[in-house]
Amino acid sequence: MIEVDQLPVVDVHAHPFLNRGAVTAEEFTDLMAFGGGSRVFMEEGGISWSEEVRDELQRGKRNTLYFKRMVLDLARFFDVEPDVEAVMAARNAAVTAGYTEYVAKLYAEVGLDTLIFDFGFPLPIHDVAEVRSELPVEVVPVFRIEPLIADLLKTDIGWPEFQRRYDDTIADALSNQGFKGVKSIIAYRTGLDVSPLSRTPDQGFQALDAIRRGLGGGSMKKLRDHLLCRALELCMEHDVPMQIHTGMGDFEVNLMLCRPGYLMDLLRFPVYRGCHVLLVHGGYPYHREAAYMANVLPRVWCDLSEGIPFAGNAAWEILRGVLAMAPLTKVCYGSDGYRLPEIMYSSAKLGKQAVASVLAELVSDSMLTQCDAQSAAGLILSGNARELYRLD
Ligand SMILES: [Zn+2]
Repeated sequence: MIEVDQLPVVDVHAHPFLNRGAVTAEEFTDLMAFGGGSRVFMEEGGISWSEEVRDELQRGKRNTLYFKRMVLDLARFFDVEPDVEAVMAARNAAVTAGYTEYVAKLYAEVGLDTLIFDFGFPLPIHDVAEVRSELPVEVVPVFRIEPLIADLLKTDIGWPEFQRRYDDTIADALSNQGFKGVKSIIAYRTGLDVSPLSRTPDQGFQALDAIRRGLGGGSMKKLRDHLLCRALELCMEHDVPMQIHTGMGDFEVNLMLCRPGYLMDLLRFPVYRGCHVLLVHGGYPYHREAAYMANVLPRVWCDLSEGIPFAGNAAWEILRGVLAMAPLTKVCYGSDGYRLPEIMYSSAKLGKQAVASVLAELVSDSMLTQCDAQSAAGLILSGNARELYRLD
């Protein structure tokens, strides 16, 4: 048996949130669900909003394994019946009595003591100090490049100034604003098939010039590819890790070009071998590719977020697939939670359960000693993230 109850948890990838006070069961469902559409999504598709359509979306959202498991976790926490209404009543009473105290109790029960937050979602960007003031755990901010790129594209500045502001803003975030790393969601934009030769500033110059003149011709991809290369270089200069989104995301992700394997050319290129890169979401459902890359590339790491908790019982399969090749010292637990504190709680419960059960299997299959498995549990749940982000 692997003991995980007493182990602390670092959530290596999640998103900041503020107290929303009491919420209805419908709002809770919309805020907590991974997918399942929204009013805007349906209306953009020409489907008029009605009670029936609303019920259709709510039904889908409440009937994923993830959602049912999360409600079950909260019902156990509050000692109420496992249905959304009962959980909501207990949850709202706790939030109203004292939000921060409630979150402290929730997170203490699962040992969650640190959240590494990608501040690039939601937008507009939350104030780091305000987020910290409400949360009873350590908050570690990470800087996302895409909102900065969007802001720079809204200006009419030419390449030299664009390049200077891009570099200076990231350098300032890392040197003066307390950000501990950089993040990219290029998989949501132009895909992960980034040539390392994009690093030449000439490509940035040519691409921005083409965008400014309305020429198209793949210029946005050329610009984003160059800026990703530059972000890797800035990470190395500041000695912080780079997070790159791989694998599934919301409905906007480029599901074909999000495979981690597309990053091989870039990450094995000599000049980028020094960069610590965390493949966010472990590329799920292509997690075996991410694990392979963490095996062959010394500074590539894998996180387990999003697959855990949103892919429900795939948590076990993800851990089995990732641990098959990724070193035990380079796999980090994460949730990709957002909007409400309960996602991070339920995810940590599921993460601990899956870590304990998969490592116990590896012991019984004579792949690991009991001692190695127990130590791996501590590394995956917190130790590896602490090392990668130098949190002590
Ligand atoms: Zn995320």
